[in-house]
Amino acid sequence: MPKYVYDLSEGAADQRALLGGKGANVAEMIRIGIPVPDGFTITTQACVDSMQRDARWPDGLWEEILAHLAALEERTGRRLGAAERPLLVSVRSGAVFSMPGMMDTILNLGMCDAAVEALAAESGNERFAWDAYRRFVQMFGEVVMGVPGDTYEHALAAAKTRRGTALDTDLDAADLRALVADYRRITREHARDDVPSDPREQLRRAVDAVFRSWQNPRAAVYRRAHGIPDDLGTAVNVMQMVFGNMGDDSATGVCFTRDPSTGDRILYGEFLVNAQGEDVVAGIRTPRPLAELEGVLPEAFHQLTDTMARLEAHYRDMQDIEFTIERGRLYLLQTRNGKRTAQAAVRIARGLSDEGVLTREEAVARVDPAMLDQLMHPMIDPEAARERLARGLNASPGAAVGAIVLDADTAERRGKAGERVVLVRWETTPDDIHGVLLAQGVLTAHGGMTSHAAVVARGMGKPCVAGTEGLRIDVDARRISFGERTFAEGDLITLDGGTGEVFAGALPLVAPRMNEDFDVIGEWADAIRRLGVRANADTPEDAERARAFGAEGIGLCRTEHMFMSDERLPAVREMILAESADDREAALARILPMQQADFEGILRAMDGLPVTIRLLDPPLHEFLPGLVETTLEVETLRRDEAPPSRLRRAERLLARIKTLVEQNPMLGTRGCRLGPLPPEISERQGRALARAARTVRAAGCSPIVEIMIPLVGFGEELRRMRALVEDVLAEEVAATESAPEIHVGTMIELPRAALCAGEIAEHADFFSFGTNDLTQTALGLSRDDAEGKFLAFYVEDGILRTNPFASVDERGVGELVRIGVERGRAARPDLKAGVCGEHGGDPASIRFFETVGLDYVSCSPYRVPIARLAAAQATIAAVTRDA
Ligand code: PEP
Ligand code: MG
Repeated sequence: MPKYVYDLSEGAADQRALLGGKGANVAEMIRIGIPVPDGFTITTQACVDSMQRDARWPDGLWEEILAHLAALEERTGRRLGAAERPLLVSVRSGAVFSMPGMMDTILNLGMCDAAVEALAAESGNERFAWDAYRRFVQMFGEVVMGVPGDTYEHALAAAKTRRGTALDTDLDAADLRALVADYRRITREHARDDVPSDPREQLRRAVDAVFRSWQNPRAAVYRRAHGIPDDLGTAVNVMQMVFGNMGDDSATGVCFTRDPSTGDRILYGEFLVNAQGEDVVAGIRTPRPLAELEGVLPEAFHQLTDTMARLEAHYRDMQDIEFTIERGRLYLLQTRNGKRTAQAAVRIARGLSDEGVLTREEAVARVDPAMLDQLMHPMIDPEAARERLARGLNASPGAAVGAIVLDADTAERRGKAGERVVLVRWETTPDDIHGVLLAQGVLTAHGGMTSHAAVVARGMGKPCVAGTEGLRIDVDARRISFGERTFAEGDLITLDGGTGEVFAGALPLVAPRMNEDFDVIGEWADAIRRLGVRANADTPEDAERARAFGAEGIGLCRTEHMFMSDERLPAVREMILAESADDREAALARILPMQQADFEGILRAMDGLPVTIRLLDPPLHEFLPGLVETTLEVETLRRDEAPPSRLRRAERLLARIKTLVEQNPMLGTRGCRLGPLPPEISERQGRALARAARTVRAAGCSPIVEIMIPLVGFGEELRRMRALVEDVLAEEVAATESAPEIHVGTMIELPRAALCAGEIAEHADFFSFGTNDLTQTALGLSRDDAEGKFLAFYVEDGILRTNPFASVDERGVGELVRIGVERGRAARPDLKAGVCGEHGGDPASIRFFETVGLDYVSCSPYRVPIARLAAAQATIAAVTRDA
């Protein structure tokens, strides 16, 4: 039998997998001499083994827990729930990856009729003892026995009404004693059972409930949102209670060693005097800023700030800390690397490096590239006129525009339907997680900077304004108001999570300014990474933006996008419908100057850097109206006896569409297969490109052009296309003085192309892996038919771990890439190889591409910073692996 239970003094920080984050960190604090209550941790293994046995505990687990409890009783000189010197404990979940508020906690366990009297006598505070009892019955009833929490809240409200007060603290010992009786009656009514009076029975059931809370729906939603595996299980921490509610010399709070929103090194945190921990995180009472603690409990305050500095130095990262002060004495209950916004993440990494705590490499490795997405989010147009409704706490930055919704289910439903919504709540609870996930942002009337809403929103990068005074919410009437201004559910509002402001209506958003801290971290990343980073861009504007974000060239310019604009599409259609070579020439003559101008703009924006331009790829029917729509139009024209010329045109169009319609266009006449039919298109594209290169070269730029042939499967296809392109180049540029640099290469996006890469490399200067099509063709899975349909189910149900169109399927598609690079380079050692599918901007895929030795990745301009950072991390990982 494995060892399932560890005393806190037995563990250390590197045992997270077994002891959970909380258990490992509390053990670590003991190890370095920071005051922590005594206790023990039941391992994640115990939870996993129970899950695997249909919630039956492994043999011997209970006996092991009892032995550690006995030892704890011995050390503290107290007995769980005894009538003299009672020991009370907290029972808390603690998973490997922190999941704030998603699982369950029970405080004051061991409380019973005997213990409450003893606690009252010992503390000399009867009110405190009965309050602790009341809280215990409620938590046990809710978490273990499944009693709805609001039934207790109603009883509490009634007790306060009887007293004529709005504050819990105005209830005296007698009121609370009566409330305990009420709560127990409520529990019996709902659960048909009493809260057990045997403290050991309480403990057994509480541990079991915490194990089970790993599988509650909100925890499952949270895990999916954060990519945490479902099979890790949670540890359970049993610790001696310390009380922040023993009077005015007691307090409890949460603090961060830096501001988790901005990353600034300031005093950041909140506390409540005479309260228990859950009061702070639950956002029920609005807490006071940490700085005020100095005036209230100066000694504990200074001890706390010293400890904060020590913990940050020890963990070399920003810490999120929970503390309790019992009668002036400070205890730390938990420390962990704090959740932070992207803005804070880059500032903290930069700051810790500047302060000499981290090397530049470590700083680069610290920032989660996926988070940088947040820095790319639009912000409210500073010029826009605005009506400010209120100002709350700036709990998580970013701009959110959306329709007001008043509950999480509605947020989920409307969000899934594609509507932008802002979730407005009195306060959010962990049960709202599914709504937060689909909302643009969160607005609450209540709760502080460390409330659940704030922590979860920051972790997800959602803008959040919390604790908004003056916001009134009438859920029954589906209305909210700020003073005189009333809004119905569905009305639009705008949040600025960076300032805490709330505005009426939908304010216009603009592109963000690039973050100064990231500029620095990005440069450090550039100095480390081996992989090049290019962008996929089809217009001069995108090319400029990409370069500003740090792109080192263009890895894919999809020329078909240049054909799609309203003004160009008619000419493209004429070209496709042309019945004679002359007509086709005439249409091409109209389109290609426009395309040449685009090429020139892109080459100028990327002066001196390589630009890969892909010849036309999609099946031609994509440029024409749909079959059904055109059939209907022809029928209507016939019925209405429209002018014969119009009818003829429509009929011609319909006939052409019918010849182009395919059963499987993805595998049909597209890519290089379009080349020969009719060859003028490829030839003219090559010509426009050669002329563009010549023109910008004459203007003093140094264009580097790579012409890319799509969807090649056979060496012979590429040989012929290359010959066609080279003939054009010979005419257009070879004869010019100082000819621009032009290379010809191919996409590798069919399994055969990867497997027969040697045959293809003979005709290619470079390969670019089109992992979008390669995923479709290797998996035999049409992206449009899979995403949003069975693929979502596959991922939710665990058949696949991730969507293979977002993160490359390493074992299948990845293997083809590996083979393609190997066989291509065997035939042609100087072959340059990159990737331009969506995966080029995905950190996990980038890590993989590093291992197969690609030269560069290419992704959308907004993902370029993410790719730069991810590429540096991939290099660091590869170097560490090889060392
Ligand atoms: C690809 O297939 O990966 C690719 C980049 O081409 P597209 O997405 O245009 O088909
Ligand atoms: Mg493709």
